[in-house]
Amino acid sequence: MKNKELHIISVSGGKDSAALVIYLKQKYPNRKFEYIFFDTGEELEDTYNYLNKLESNLGIKIQYIKPKKSFIEFLHDHNDYLPSPQKRWCTIKMKIETFFEFMQRYKDKQIYNYVGIRADEDREGLVPTKENIITIMPFKEDGINLNDVKRILHDAGVGLPAYYDVIYDEKYNIEYFRSRSGCYFCFFMRQIEWVWLLEKHPDKFQKAMEFEKIGYSWIQGMSLKELSKPHTVKKIKESYKRYEEMKKKRQIKNGTMFGEMEFLSKHDKMIDEVEKDEFCIMCIL
Ligand code: SF4
Repeated sequence: MKNKELHIISVSGGKDSAALVIYLKQKYPNRKFEYIFFDTGEELEDTYNYLNKLESNLGIKIQYIKPKKSFIEFLHDHNDYLPSPQKRWCTIKMKIETFFEFMQRYKDKQIYNYVGIRADEDREGLVPTKENIITIMPFKEDGINLNDVKRILHDAGVGLPAYYDVIYDEKYNIEYFRSRSGCYFCFFMRQIEWVWLLEKHPDKFQKAMEFEKIGYSWIQGMSLKELSKPHTVKKIKESYKRYEEMKKKRQIKNGTMFGEMEFLSKHDKMIDEVEKDEFCIMCIL
């Protein structure tokens, strides 16, 4: 048994880890927590703003931990092969290895790593494991669900990250927004979220597009150049509209009826399959 303890909360710039910070500060007012953020350098400005807000509203200091190389350097190391759900080298190189390197300085301590997976989520996520690291999921243990998270954030005056602000498209009568923190080019984004990036942050979309080489694209079978064309955007919005209408009619129960939803893109179907269990908790909570 180690004689010293270290309590760590990794904040991602997402709502769940932000709510976890507030929740644990209230639950354990005398416990000293370390707050860390793994900064890939490829985040949205909204994420940095949200972290600043957390610091000022809660009176905490978040340590920004950077990987030893930039994304572009890692990309070259991987022969310009972009990361994907199947080959997620970005999470390993930029988050997990960085996490372990950072933890090396605390190797003589018993580390408690608090993770914000909620009680209403049916997944475990990829959790870094090591002999002196114990992972704790307080929301799961205490039955905290999505509504509780929103209430915690609201009551603390923190609210949701700005990337949740919706775009309303009158022509299609649809609302859409970015649903996760993490890199602005994350391949886990649905096609409508790429449209969101194109419309809301065209500079970031352009940057993501420049990472694509012949044959390597963020979305399986479609380049961002193709996605940005008006007729493709139209198709994605129409498909999203049908998807939302089906959801409203409650024809989807717990996301299990995607087999019937032929209009969903191959990319979006694949995301539904992988994100439930394997989504990187270091990126999106
Ligand atoms: S946010 Fe997405 S692209 Fe960035 S490290 Fe995580 S999985 Fe990779």
